[in-house]
Amino acid sequence: MGVFDDLVGQDRATAVLQRASAAAAEVVAGGRGAGMTHAWLFTGPPGAGRENAARAFAAALMCAQGGCGHCDQCHQVFVGSHPDLEHVRPSGLSYGIKQARELILRAAGAPTQGRWRVMLFEGGDRLTEAAANALLKAIEEPPPRTVWLLCAPSADDLLITIRSRCRVVTLVIPSTEAVAHELATRDNVPEATARFAARAAQGDLDRARQLALDEGVRQRREAVLSIPATLTGVGECVTAAERLVKTAEEEATAATTTLNESETSDLRRLYGEGSTGKGLNRGLVRGGAGALKELEDRQKSRATRIKRDTLDAALLELAGFYRDVLAMQFGAPVELANDDHRFDLDRLARASTPDETLLRIEAIMQCRERLEANVNPQIAVEAMTLSLRAPR
Ligand SMILES: [Zn+2]
Repeated sequence: MGVFDDLVGQDRATAVLQRASAAAAEVVAGGRGAGMTHAWLFTGPPGAGRENAARAFAAALMCAQGGCGHCDQCHQVFVGSHPDLEHVRPSGLSYGIKQARELILRAAGAPTQGRWRVMLFEGGDRLTEAAANALLKAIEEPPPRTVWLLCAPSADDLLITIRSRCRVVTLVIPSTEAVAHELATRDNVPEATARFAARAAQGDLDRARQLALDEGVRQRREAVLSIPATLTGVGECVTAAERLVKTAEEEATAATTTLNESETSDLRRLYGEGSTGKGLNRGLVRGGAGALKELEDRQKSRATRIKRDTLDAALLELAGFYRDVLAMQFGAPVELANDDHRFDLDRLARASTPDETLLRIEAIMQCRERLEANVNPQIAVEAMTLSLRAPR
């Protein structure tokens, strides 16, 4: 048991990291620690859990038991408060030389807890060339107790000079069986439900867990997957688009309301809202009103993002439906994500050609791009449902 148990379906990567943790412990104990490397690159497609694997490894390096998962060291790594762990998540589109230089300076310090100083850098693919070159020097000659953990979708996303100095850990999309097993053993989900959720989520463990445990999530999936069969006329397409957008709005509201309320009341307490204060800003000490306004702005932008993400998730669900249709049309021997909707899949597979299915998938992808570019959701989604129309 320990931090590596959460890496579902990553047996090969886990074996490598466990051996490296043991070697790292040898180094700490004054030994040679053959097999310990100071620069690592975690790669794998989205949903494979690159950052989770890197964080588990960081915990294993800090923990005296090689990543027990319970001690203070492990806990601090997972909540992000460990003094020897620098966890960098670039928020912009690129990470420049100035930021990289500052990071390298911070990497130079000795670990305060006597084990390792770990630099966990997500988004290795966002390093500019100058930043990557600066980092290269730090990686080539690191201080004796500094370890770099870079994450990127694939090794090709980094300069070859950096890549060649890192040990690459490749994460994979976990199999349906591995995800189902995890849900059944860890979350006590009945076996049939676990299998259904794992298949529908296509290897995304978080999504699978939501599907298995949350009736509301299952219902929303049903609502999305029932759409293709209804798109027989223009009127139906417009209605379906309205429903998709409205469902995303409701889900975003549900996700944010409780959070907003508790943040707002926390802030009010912080600024000492008096017991007599009844009006919006009455009773707040100086600065309180400004802080409250700032919080409200942040909450608004978060709501927008959640709404967009929710709609995007629904579109991906739809794309998965048509991908299943395409697989049936080609007779491809793959597992269908939406096997529980086999009747609708089969009917559409017979009534259309693979070319038409490809055009439909393209329409969905185009809609996602337009939403990302801030096109009005109703307009973008309506254009999509009209392209998905399958007259009968
Ligand atoms: Zn521990």
